[in-house]
Amino acid sequence: MRIVVLTGGIGGARFLLGVRAYAREVGAEVTAVVNVGDDLLLHGLKVCPDLDSVMYTLGGGADPERGWGRVGETWTVKSELAAYGAEPAWFGLGDKDLATHLVRTTMLNAGYPLSQVTEALSARWQPGVRLLPATDDRLETHVVVDLDGGQRAIHFQEWWVRHRADVPTHRFVFVGAETAKPAPGVLEAIRAADVVLVAPSNPVVSIAPILAVPGLRDAIADGPAPVVGVSPIIGGAPVRGMADRCLSVLGVECSAAGVGGLYGGRAAGGLLDGWLVATEDEGTAVPEVTVRAAPLRMTDEAATAAMVRAALELM
Ligand code: GDP
Ligand code: CA
Repeated sequence: MRIVVLTGGIGGARFLLGVRAYAREVGAEVTAVVNVGDDLLLHGLKVCPDLDSVMYTLGGGADPERGWGRVGETWTVKSELAAYGAEPAWFGLGDKDLATHLVRTTMLNAGYPLSQVTEALSARWQPGVRLLPATDDRLETHVVVDLDGGQRAIHFQEWWVRHRADVPTHRFVFVGAETAKPAPGVLEAIRAADVVLVAPSNPVVSIAPILAVPGLRDAIADGPAPVVGVSPIIGGAPVRGMADRCLSVLGVECSAAGVGGLYGGRAAGGLLDGWLVATEDEGTAVPEVTVRAAPLRMTDEAATAAMVRAALELM
């Protein structure tokens, strides 16, 4: 069995722990197509927050409390940068984390595409699933906001981390999306998949930028594999994070029905065949989509693997 998972960072990474556990049980092969819209250059270094969250989490090196970055992290470089007044000061780069960005940037500067760099980094972390960036090309999520008396576009990370999404927001723009190509292996994995799972990641800034890569959405929507999504919203609230802020920018209700409707039913020109919602949201209906309810809190690997099993029963 071949499973493809569309995923963002922290929520997607936790979900992938369950997918991997399930896959080991049944001998399935997993490919994760990871969002790159959050990627940014900091102090000359290429930082890929979602790829790193997935890689560290599956590799056993993530900080479980903070949810991002490395366990046992130290912050010497960050405080030295602050002593110089170096900007941006709002993004925390840990010392251990920096090594990843140094290796990545060196390889990118030597001409390797991000997909190959990710494979090289994965040789250390042994994530147990194939990690593919959605694209090797530059695709950045920017956010159009009212700031300093005018309308301007800021990088998603500035909106999210610096402003905590707490600034009048008009829309999201996936810069570079028009000319981006799916990374090598992405379309092949989708075409060969027995199922495509949409992780309970942020639909607006984690999944949408993946689907914005030309050809990727069509490959899924027109492909042979059933597509099953897992709701990131439980009882009208994101479990953690600020997905509610992102959804409100789009005018979409923060609910399992709202997100299910945003993805849409495949038979109605959307993405999904199945939509797994939380037991709290039993009774949710999405046109042209088979909806089922199951416990959706990713408290541990076993509970998450059970979610995956429930999602696959929707195939
Ligand atoms: P990010 O890129 O680090 O923001 O992470 P993702 O986009 O992959 O995941 C963030 C989303 O995960 C949030 O919108 C949360 O609602 C969702 N999430 C986090 N924990 C859980 C959980 O235990 N269950 C479910 N169903 N969703 C969760
Ligand atoms: Ca992210």
